[in-house]
Amino acid sequence: MDPVTKALDELHRRISGLKGGEVASYIPKLAQADPEDFGIAITSMGGRRYQAGKADTEFTIQSVSKPFVYALALTDLGPDEMLRRVGAEPSGEAFNAISLEPGTGRPANPMVNAGAIATTALVSAADPEARSARILDCLSAFAGRRLGYDEEVYASEVATGDRNRALAYLMRAAGSLSEDPYAVTATYFRQCSVLVTAADLAVMAATLGNGGRNPVTGERVVERSVAVRTLAVMATCGMYDGAGEWLLSVGLPAKSGVSGGLIAVGPGRFGVAVYSPPLDAAGNSVRGVAALTAMSERLALHLMHVPVHLTATVTDTGHGARSSRARSPEESALLNASSRRIVVVGAQGELEFTETEQLLGAVEGAVPEPPGWLVLDLMAVTGIRPGSAAMLAAGLADVARRGHRIVVAAQEPFLAGVGGYSGWRAFAGRDDAVAWCEDQLLAGELPVGPPAAEGGSGPSAGAGCGP
Ligand code: GLU
Repeated sequence: MDPVTKALDELHRRISGLKGGEVASYIPKLAQADPEDFGIAITSMGGRRYQAGKADTEFTIQSVSKPFVYALALTDLGPDEMLRRVGAEPSGEAFNAISLEPGTGRPANPMVNAGAIATTALVSAADPEARSARILDCLSAFAGRRLGYDEEVYASEVATGDRNRALAYLMRAAGSLSEDPYAVTATYFRQCSVLVTAADLAVMAATLGNGGRNPVTGERVVERSVAVRTLAVMATCGMYDGAGEWLLSVGLPAKSGVSGGLIAVGPGRFGVAVYSPPLDAAGNSVRGVAALTAMSERLALHLMHVPVHLTATVTDTGHGARSSRARSPEESALLNASSRRIVVVGAQGELEFTETEQLLGAVEGAVPEPPGWLVLDLMAVTGIRPGSAAMLAAGLADVARRGHRIVVAAQEPFLAGVGGYSGWRAFAGRDDAVAWCEDQLLAGELPVGPPAAEGGSGPSAGAGCGP
């Protein structure tokens, strides 16, 4: 058994015994759920899927549909119009509260019922059937398989959903809902009655965590900016009136539903889902909350957790590096005598702000005096954010202005990423980079003071990174 499944199994075993909570009964059909059903599933950013317990048991998605339908409406309307129609403030109230802005009737956020019903109404469609079809298509794309409905739960909710209809009529009266309240709540009940499993929900959550691209099917379901906004709303409003406490203890964007489903997202890491029907007083799955709390603690998943840098960014700094080129005894003597003029700084991993700032600090500490050649060995750098690339380029430009020649050894994708900023000589390996500096030194091309432009290859030329 693989280690992730083993850990999930162990967590499942430990939390299975947890009693307490009530199965939701306000929709009569939901009251028939088995309180012992309990499944956990995880989908990684690589699209690998892990599960324990009853992760293939189907149940109705209920409110866990809300973030996905929000993502769909957001795609249709764009961020400004979406915010104008539905707010993004945590209401701190129960899922079916009348949380409407005084005056405008704008619902507080899309994760409580009023906002969710308004959001459903904003999904562009010619008629209610077409709207339901688009919603089902969207949920299916997030899940990576064709989903269907539980007709009995749908009928049960239609028969008893007066409070939701009342919310819709209130919004209509306040001017914040333009669709027919009866029809729109029916569409909302349809959306709530979509059948999913915990395994499906984990893929759906992972798609949000993967910037909107389903990591299992590879399909781009929503734009990255839409996924980011959806996760932000989940983080502040996803757990009903327990949202604040959830952010304190678990610290992940999440959404729960009255049927006992719960999803949480580790952005860029994984999607996780739990199914267990008994709910706590805030309407969140008791075992779901316990499982996610334990997982977050054990794996340090809390978003505010300061990441531990397991590997150093700067791997080596120093002078006296020599290339593998054959040199005559005289050349060797000259290179040895000037060994302080060629300095190498090596780095590895992903360069974000923290790492780039470290690297530039190491460069400052290493540059030779009088000016010489700075070889930056970035062969083991796996990526750089655009903001960090600009920061690195500005730092190196400053070093170059002081008369140093900058020589970079890096992989092609890295060079392409920072190409727009380059003012340095680039090579495909450290040895070639050092050899070029040696050749320059042997040819007497010593960097003294701020250099003149060198026809595209020197540190001040700023014209591409080609050798
Ligand atoms: N269909 C449910 C309702 O609106 C969904 C509620 C929920 O899961 O929070 O009443």
